[in-house]
Amino acid sequence: MNTAYHSHFSIDTIPFGVFSVKNSSKRLATIINDQVVDLYKLAKLGYFDDLKIKKSVFKNDYLNDFISLGKEKTNAVRKRLQEILQDQTTIHHSAFTIHQSKVELHLPIKVGDYTDFYSSEQHATNVGAMFRDPANALLPNWKHIPVAYHGRASSIFVSGKNFHRPKGQINNDESKPPIFAPTSRLDIELEMATIIGKSNEIGEAIDVNQAEDYVFGFQLLNDWSARDIQKWEYVPLGPFLAKNFFTSVSPWVITIEALAPFRIPASEQIPEVLPYLQEKNHLNFDVKLEVILQTKDAEEVVITRSNFKNMYWTVAQQIAHHTVNGCNLNVGDLLGSGTISGKEPDSFGSMLELTWGGKNPIKLPNGSERKFLEDYDTIIIRGFAEKNGLRINFGEVKTMILPTK
Ligand code: MN
Repeated sequence: MNTAYHSHFSIDTIPFGVFSVKNSSKRLATIINDQVVDLYKLAKLGYFDDLKIKKSVFKNDYLNDFISLGKEKTNAVRKRLQEILQDQTTIHHSAFTIHQSKVELHLPIKVGDYTDFYSSEQHATNVGAMFRDPANALLPNWKHIPVAYHGRASSIFVSGKNFHRPKGQINNDESKPPIFAPTSRLDIELEMATIIGKSNEIGEAIDVNQAEDYVFGFQLLNDWSARDIQKWEYVPLGPFLAKNFFTSVSPWVITIEALAPFRIPASEQIPEVLPYLQEKNHLNFDVKLEVILQTKDAEEVVITRSNFKNMYWTVAQQIAHHTVNGCNLNVGDLLGSGTISGKEPDSFGSMLELTWGGKNPIKLPNGSERKFLEDYDTIIIRGFAEKNGLRINFGEVKTMILPTK
């Protein structure tokens, strides 16, 4: 299968990230076509003077201070960048751009807290059917609560950073004691990350119809999972070591404003949800997603295609639910969407589902097959939104699996 992705970023995208070149400090950036734009240099040249933003905000290890300025300022910077970068000559002959191959991109957000949801009905149905009962795949709470667990922020890394296959307790035959071994069921989860852009006070719930004001933007997210470790440990308190060994994100944060043209109605929720989850506009985002497996010796193979629109619970509902008890969100918190599976079997968002628990291995062009992932396999998630010639690119998140240490 060919990939529909290409690596250029349009003037409509203008995402935010953090970069460095050899021997220099980290700076904030955007990207246009394949040129990384140094926002600190632009600030020093006076391009943002009238916006009254301290220049030091742009010379920073993370986007958090910039995001904390609030939407009025960050959107003004984005608009100014679109004005400056309209001109192709500016892009290619300027003192503030550098080709993307010459920079290092860093983790753009200092993530305070990481929450992972479970909001795709097809994913929850598939997992429920495999692990419990196909006739009652969804648990009774699922259509009432946007189910989630608290993840671990310290092990979130940016695209290009690799990890070693984790070890843990595994028990495939519960009539015997568990063993300690490297996972043999290493898996991906195709997800989107929502980056919180505004905090709420402790004790103050966020109204579902105002929840999107609290969103700065989105990244691609791969929530690496060890299914054998997960199966043994998850009862009764949910995932722990099966999930916290590594999480990968893409380097560019796409603002929620950039996605405005790609809003589409979310599917009707039956039964009716409680009032605090009822939205005036029940909308998802139409963002095409694909997962590519690159084996050690082979070319790229697309193993699944899904879409951010395959969400039963919207981002706004996730935020309203997260805070309904008074829990405070902070700038830089990350909410994982949960694995995004579509209805068709070639749109499932994990190997667990694509191979149906390993029963139907994926056949690769080089003659090999995969039930789960092997050492030196590389996984790339790519995403884009496209409509009437408008294209918003999410870039990619790429990670290789290294052998157990
Ligand atoms: Mn997940």
